[in-house]
Amino acid sequence: MTATLDATLDIPTLTTIPPDVAALQQEVRRWCQERVAPVVRALDAADADDFDWDLIQEGHDLGLTRLVVPKQFGGLGYGEFGVAIALEELAAVDAGLALVFGATMLGQAPVLLSGDPRLQARFLPLFSGDEAVLACNAITEDKAGCDLLIPENAEYAVDVMRARREGDHYVLNGDKKFITNGKVARYGTVFANIEGHEGATMLTCFVVPLDTPGITRGEIADKMGYRTCLGTELHFDNVIVPAENVAGGEGGGVYINVQQMNMARAAVAAIATGVARGALEQAVEFAGERIQGGKVLWQHQFTARKLAEMAAKVEASRMLYLRAAYMADTQIPAPVFETAAAKLFADRVAIEVCTEAMSVMGARGYLRDHGMEKRLRDALGSRIYEGTPEVLALAITESLYETDDF
Ligand SMILES: Cc1cc2nc3c(=O)[nH]c(=O)nc-3n(C[C@H](O)[C@H](O)[C@H](O)COP(=O)(O)OP(=O)(O)OC[C@H]3O[C@@H](n4cnc5c(N)ncnc54)[C@H](O)[C@@H]3O)c2cc1C
Repeated sequence: MTATLDATLDIPTLTTIPPDVAALQQEVRRWCQERVAPVVRALDAADADDFDWDLIQEGHDLGLTRLVVPKQFGGLGYGEFGVAIALEELAAVDAGLALVFGATMLGQAPVLLSGDPRLQARFLPLFSGDEAVLACNAITEDKAGCDLLIPENAEYAVDVMRARREGDHYVLNGDKKFITNGKVARYGTVFANIEGHEGATMLTCFVVPLDTPGITRGEIADKMGYRTCLGTELHFDNVIVPAENVAGGEGGGVYINVQQMNMARAAVAAIATGVARGALEQAVEFAGERIQGGKVLWQHQFTARKLAEMAAKVEASRMLYLRAAYMADTQIPAPVFETAAAKLFADRVAIEVCTEAMSVMGARGYLRDHGMEKRLRDALGSRIYEGTPEVLALAITESLYETDDF
């Protein structure tokens, strides 16, 4: 069995939130309750291409666009632990809003992981100005979805975006799909395969300003959930990108992608936990007020059992993501097993808890007015990006057998 399973649990880390993270958590919670919760239903019901820049600007003013940007570049310098706790707060109210900021961090991650001080100095200070700036991370394509997330499947990836070196620059051609923030981001980290190499075997990460000639921001996906954030196609037609914009070196895209995923999975697990927690809190409130059979619902044993199971699942989900985030902050490279396991578990918990919470609320849970069905739609979205259950299962099982031989 893998050594990661024997790793000692760092109890103080899981029970003591550092003061700066606790302050961030309180600040984000207050903003979400006062400012976001009242408009959640309108955000969810808006057209697919609707984007609330005012709200994003307020999130930017709170620091949510620069949580992971180092202090030397004007950021707040938090690690995954602080990020995950902030994202749980956001997702307890609206997962789509959490992903607007989460996707921006995904676009910042390759720049950070590159370790290239010049690339960092050019792109990271963008997030510390007065105006909100967003980023995106573009991996998925029409014919290559999970194949771009499973390194062993790189050779099978079909029609992957191409990059051709010409002197001091590369020329990018191809299309990306479902890119969160693609419509509104200032720049994207874009993964393309070097021409002449099979599938995605020479995947390379480029930092690309999205106003570069040849880029078209295409159709916005009409998603069933996560409606606050925009998922967009990006088209690249002979786009010239300077060689100095490569993050992690030519062919280093797979490494960047894997590291980024291992860090991000703890954060997505936090988003899923937030969705579940929001549903639990709403169900607890409802069951504390609704009277049937002469007493409030929670005093009926069947409902009490449901609420208890839901609460235990949320608690376990939070423990797993906190541990995974802590390990992602303290280990290089970030761990595969703990982050994938946290996401696999939290994604499922979110769906189960939202489903049970709907049942606790009876017909009201099924109505749009009460917002529970919206939480379930969001819960179903979390299990798709940064690794579907099947992709996570492969990563976890590889850890169990200490192999990458699938
Ligand atoms: C809300 C949301 C936000 C997103 N944001 C982004 C973003 O910002 N950037 C980005 O690049 N992408 C983004 N995506 C896209 C997402 O990453 C992909 O949808 C995901 O990787 C799956 O790819 P696919 O949809 O093409 O499914 P496919 O790869 O076609 O998979 C279809 C099904 O087959 C299963 N499957 C595939 N391969 C295997 C295998 N080898 N073994 C077993 N089962 C397998 C999958 O698990 C899945 O159930 C987002 C998606 C959503 C829903």
